[in-house]
Amino acid sequence: MQEPPHPAGRDSPDLLPGPRGREPDRAGKEYVGFATLPNQVHRKSVKKGFDFTLMVAGESGLGKSTLVNSLFLTDLYKDRKLLNAEERITQTVEITKHTVDIEEKGVKLKLTIVDTPGFGDAVNNTECWKSVADYIDQQFEQYFRDESGLNRKNIQDNRVHCCLYFISPFGHGLRPLDVEFMKALHEKVNIVPILAKADTLTPAEVKKKKFKIREEIEQYGIKIYQFPDCDSDEDDDFKQQDHQLKESIPFAVIGSNTVVEAKGKRVRGRLYPWGIVEVENSAHCDFVKLRNMLVRTHMQDLKDVTRETHYENYRAHCIQNMTRMVVKERNRKSI
Ligand code: GDP
Repeated sequence: MQEPPHPAGRDSPDLLPGPRGREPDRAGKEYVGFATLPNQVHRKSVKKGFDFTLMVAGESGLGKSTLVNSLFLTDLYKDRKLLNAEERITQTVEITKHTVDIEEKGVKLKLTIVDTPGFGDAVNNTECWKSVADYIDQQFEQYFRDESGLNRKNIQDNRVHCCLYFISPFGHGLRPLDVEFMKALHEKVNIVPILAKADTLTPAEVKKKKFKIREEIEQYGIKIYQFPDCDSDEDDDFKQQDHQLKESIPFAVIGSNTVVEAKGKRVRGRLYPWGIVEVENSAHCDFVKLRNMLVRTHMQDLKDVTRETHYENYRAHCIQNMTRMVVKERNRKSI
C-alpha cells in the first residue's frame, strides 16, 4: 500500500530528533521532540480511517444521484427503483442509505450517502420535511445513547454531516417547500444549497438566480452552512479562493454519468447538438468548487460544526428535558 503524503513534512530534518537524541534545531534551541505530535496524530487517524455522511435532498429528477456519482466516481444507486407518477402520488418520504468504502493513497474513507426519495413528489407536500428531520434526530439520539452507555469504544457515528439541498433551476428563486425544508432543518444539519442542472440556464441567468436565492435565504432567516473565515495570515491566493467560494453560493452544478470527448480529451460531460458541457470545467459550472469544498477543504469543518453545534444543541436540549422530568418527579413525590 502506498503511504499517503505527509503534512508538516515527516522527513523534515527540523522535525526529527538526531541519532544522538536531543540536538539543537536551526534556531539553536534544544530539541525535545513534541514537534512530531502532528505526525503522530496524522498516522493514528490514517490508520483509523475517516467517515463522512452526506445527505442529498430535493425534489426527484433534479440530478441528485447523478451528482453524487459524479462527485465520488462510484455508482451508488445501482439498485434504485424509480416510481411511476401514480405510485408517487401516495408515496411518503423514504430515507435510504448507501455506504461505500473508498481509498485514495492509503487513506480510507467510509462514505455514507443518505437520500430522501419521495421528497416533494406528492400532491400535498405539507410537512414532508418531517421524516428527514426525524431521521437526523434519530441519529443524534442513537449517538447520545451510545455515548452515555457503558461501551463507548466502538460507537458507530451515523450523524449527518452535511445536507446538499437541491433547488430547481426552473423556478424564480426559492419555492415555499424549499424555505420550509431549510428552516426546519437549519439548526440540525449543515445545509449547502445547490442550484441544480445549471446547464439549463445561461451564465446571466445563473448569476441572477444565485443572487435571488442568496437574497431570499437572508430574507427568510435561513441559516445555511457558513464557511469559516480564513486566518489573517493566509496567503492572498487562499483568501481569494475563500472569497470566491463564499460568492458561489448556491453552487450551480451539472452532473453526468457519461464520458464524452471534448477537444481531444475524454471528460465527464453532457453532449448536446450544440456542444458539450463539461462537469469539471469551472467556466461551465461550480462542480469542482463544490467537490473541493466537500472533500479537500471543509470536510473536517463540516464534521466539527455537526459535533460542536448541531449535536451539542440536541444534547443540551435532551439533558434539559431529562432534568426537568427529574425535578417534576421529585416535586410530585414530595407533595
Ligand atoms: P434524482 O431523482 O434527483 O436523483 O435525479 P437523477 O440523478 O436520477 O437525474 C434525473 C434526470 O436528470 C436524468 O435523466 C439525468 O440524466 C438528468 N440530469 C442529471 N443531472 C443533470 C444536469 O446537471 N443537467 C441536466 N440537463 N440533466 C441532468
